[in-house]
Amino acid sequence: MHIAGDASALTPQQRELVGLAATLGREKFAPRAARHDREASFPFDNYDDLRASGLLGICVPTAYGGLGADFATYVMVAAELGRHCGATALSFNMHVSSCMWAGFIADALDMTPGQRADHEAHRAVHFDRIVRQGKVYSQPFSEGGAAAAGKAPWGTLAKPVEGGYVVSGKKIFASLAGAADYYGVLCTLDKPGATQRDSLYLVVPADAPGVSVVGDWDPLGMRGTVSRTLLLDHVAVPDSARLMPEGLYWQAAARYPHMFATLSPTYMGIAQAAYDFTVAYLRAEVPGMPPVKRRMYPTKQVAVAEMRIKLEQTRALFLQNARDAKVDPDKPTRMRIYAAHYTIMENAAAIASLAIRTCGGQSMLKSLPLERLYRDSRCGSLMLPWTAELCVDRLGRECLYEAGERDEAIE
Ligand SMILES: Cc1cc2nc3c(=O)[nH]c(=O)nc-3n(C[C@H](O)[C@H](O)[C@H](O)COP(=O)(O)OP(=O)(O)OC[C@H]3O[C@@H](n4cnc5c(N)ncnc54)[C@H](O)[C@@H]3O)c2cc1C
Repeated sequence: MHIAGDASALTPQQRELVGLAATLGREKFAPRAARHDREASFPFDNYDDLRASGLLGICVPTAYGGLGADFATYVMVAAELGRHCGATALSFNMHVSSCMWAGFIADALDMTPGQRADHEAHRAVHFDRIVRQGKVYSQPFSEGGAAAAGKAPWGTLAKPVEGGYVVSGKKIFASLAGAADYYGVLCTLDKPGATQRDSLYLVVPADAPGVSVVGDWDPLGMRGTVSRTLLLDHVAVPDSARLMPEGLYWQAAARYPHMFATLSPTYMGIAQAAYDFTVAYLRAEVPGMPPVKRRMYPTKQVAVAEMRIKLEQTRALFLQNARDAKVDPDKPTRMRIYAAHYTIMENAAAIASLAIRTCGGQSMLKSLPLERLYRDSRCGSLMLPWTAELCVDRLGRECLYEAGERDEAIE
């Protein structure tokens, strides 16, 4: 089954790139997924394949030598990757995010001619590293406090100095920690009275003096993301480290909210994988399993129908969201993103849970992928800034309030 439902509705580029992701995922990533999960090791081998296939540059504009994929194309590819290795798809999203922010999102923002020229010069450096040098970027935003929930300025500070900045701070759950070549760090410009509007997106080389990765990594799921803690101790970076001009991240986050929903395609893929496994299991087509069919029992048929209904509901919102993405979405579109993101994250966990119940005891052995899908699926709805709770929070408020309306009760 195609991750995007009706394949004939896709553009030629979407068909080609989703096909490429399917081949890589099926032939390379899926067979390696159990080992990376067991060892909680970073899938360097998968990144070698992503590099060789050109997918590292999927969202680098064609003018800079990349594949120039748009939002919809990228999320379909991400979902297909997630179908075969959730941890690879999730960490790949951190890499691709740096290209989306600096690429098609930045193109849609308002900049002065000076800012635009500055941005073109700087992003040429970043895109060249990715496309021609095969470098990998990551996106460590989270600090364990309210900033990653969008409710406070970043605690990581960038002090302006002659020719650049000095960055200090701590980032938790930094996927690709110790694996990325460059960390795309969100910080606050260190100046009196700085607010969230003074957020700055800076690229820090992994080997810069003052950068270290600390702590262990032994989580429930998404173990191959290796999301350890990143410490930045007076790290000097040049002006060209700006992935967007000063002040532009705030504008980007406010005007292109779909960007925060790029975490969910991975989980769309995991939901699909849990369904795929269940069908194969009930048909007795899982390699290495005894040829015991279970599909003839009405209770199994009801359960798999329930899974398919949830899967199609999830896919419908996923695709709608993919095609809705644009700068300055109207309020109904904004509300639909929250609903879509919430649904994908929660339904992935629900579908994986149903899959275990439906297939039964032998299906959750560690020799089979389902128990990993179940654990990985649990991680989605706790990812900031749009956890399941925060999606509900925003959606509920937006259902009942129009711009500028306030009540004392929620002050
Ligand atoms: C596998 C995995 C990979 C990850 N990779 C990355 C990565 O590459 N980059 C990255 O930046 N992050 C990443 N994250 C981090 C993720 O987005 C969260 O920041 C992280 O899980 C910590 O969240 P928490 O639930 O412990 O936060 P909490 O401690 O629950 O929340 C942090 C703060 O957010 C606010 N908050 C939380 N919930 C609410 C609420 N309901 N209402 C109001 N405010 C609230 C509070 O101020 C709270 O103190 C990853 C997480 C996982 C699980």
